[in-house]
Amino acid sequence: METNMLIGSSFEAGTEIEELVLDPRTGETILKMPEANAEQINRAVAAARKGFAAWSRTTPAERSEKLLAIADAVDANLEALAQLEALNCGKPIDEVRTAEVPAVSDCFRYFAGAVRNMHGPLAGEYMEGHTSMIRRDPVGVVASIAPWNYPMMMMAWKLAPALAGGNTVVLKPSEQTPLTALKLAQILADILPEGVVNVIVGQGASVGNTLINHPGVDMISITGDIATGKKVLVAAANSVKRTHLELGGKAPVIVYDDADLDRVVEGLKAFGYYNAGQDCTAACRIYAGKKIYDRFVAELSGAVSSIVYANDDDTLNEIPPLISKRQRDRVASFVQRAADQSHMEVVTGGTLHDGPGFYYKPTVIAGARQSDEIVQREVFGPVVSVTPFGEEDDVIGWANDSQYGLASSVWTRDIGRALDASARLRYGCTWVNTHFMLVNEMPHGGLKQSGYGKDMSMFALEDYTAVRHVMIAH
Ligand code: NAD
Repeated sequence: METNMLIGSSFEAGTEIEELVLDPRTGETILKMPEANAEQINRAVAAARKGFAAWSRTTPAERSEKLLAIADAVDANLEALAQLEALNCGKPIDEVRTAEVPAVSDCFRYFAGAVRNMHGPLAGEYMEGHTSMIRRDPVGVVASIAPWNYPMMMMAWKLAPALAGGNTVVLKPSEQTPLTALKLAQILADILPEGVVNVIVGQGASVGNTLINHPGVDMISITGDIATGKKVLVAAANSVKRTHLELGGKAPVIVYDDADLDRVVEGLKAFGYYNAGQDCTAACRIYAGKKIYDRFVAELSGAVSSIVYANDDDTLNEIPPLISKRQRDRVASFVQRAADQSHMEVVTGGTLHDGPGFYYKPTVIAGARQSDEIVQREVFGPVVSVTPFGEEDDVIGWANDSQYGLASSVWTRDIGRALDASARLRYGCTWVNTHFMLVNEMPHGGLKQSGYGKDMSMFALEDYTAVRHVMIAH
């Protein structure tokens, strides 16, 4: 198992504290991970600055070729990467093999194509005797900071557009899930020139904080908690760095009375609980029409209680445990506080799994009201709330009444209603009769405190490049 960080072209061990990397299925230690010290962080940033000089002058075709080689190498290492990600996150390995690793290589392939196809305004004489043109040039050194829920995929979302745009990167994975990042670092070092990607590990408060405040960093890209995003903004304000923030979510799901209930129940069993709800787009805040409410709650509860997890035969498992004891206890306390209020009912789940690991039973809480904590705050666990609404209620207003603005969905057979709701919802994405689906060609990113800047799509490539004007006097 790789434990060395990539700094320039050298692989080296960290020093100072040792973070325990745990197996969430058992709670046992996988290994002790030392973290980068200040001198190593400085050298990683310096290597990225040095690497920038040549990488930023490569052609899109040259960068595209490297990204395609990375995609091929990810595919060639699929099994090793899948095993590591499954071990570190407790994910069912078939999901990682069939969904997450292919999404990583596809991300690199998409940006390999995208960088050769950027568009912009026409060059021309906008002032007599002068020709103007627009350039999109790299921003510089990007500090990329990733969360623990999809370690490899988040790494790809950050690296691929940044590298395609001609930037160099210092990447810090979550201290809880560094294993695939360190393995990928080996793959990247064989393909990319020295210093183009550097991977350092360590805690947010130490390594992350030093990195975002580093004067050699031009842009900070972070996926994480709102509180962490605010710290990034403070650091960026002190040194005027560009920022790209993908923060949390609390996705509203509006199920109208005319929805195809079988489809809704089947969908929400998957989209509310995938990755044990540790997903910023998780379908976790359901509003169900009063006419179908009772039947919907009963059928959803039945479906959710059948979700398989913690089975010795991993091919049967549908969801992983939570990432840590701390996260599991946090989820349990949200549910307990909801259960303590008489108007809410925990219709299924609501307890810890009886056995080893950080599992929490998939949970449905019915009767939630708009002002309840369980409706307003991100749980980031396998917990879904259901709130009834009638024709007299402003359900779109309720859905929009959230500090978050990442993802939403509406379920109805009435296309006019779906289009009207889609226009009024203030979320980076609205799905109709589905949820959770992402493709590399389309943008992913938030409004409100979910942050700004897009992952995936041509919009991400734009975020990682700077618009410049060149004017030539004749
Ligand atoms: P987190 O904010 O605790 O950590 C994210 C990363 O930030 C980690 O690498 C961590 O070490 C680092 N970090 C923490 N404090 C820091 C600091 N002071 N300075 C610099 N770096 C620091 O989040 P998490 O618990 O790893 O992930 C869960 C959160 O991420 C949830 O809120 C979730 O919604 C969000 N998330 C958002 C998206 C999205 O696309 N919007 C995707 C996945 C996860």
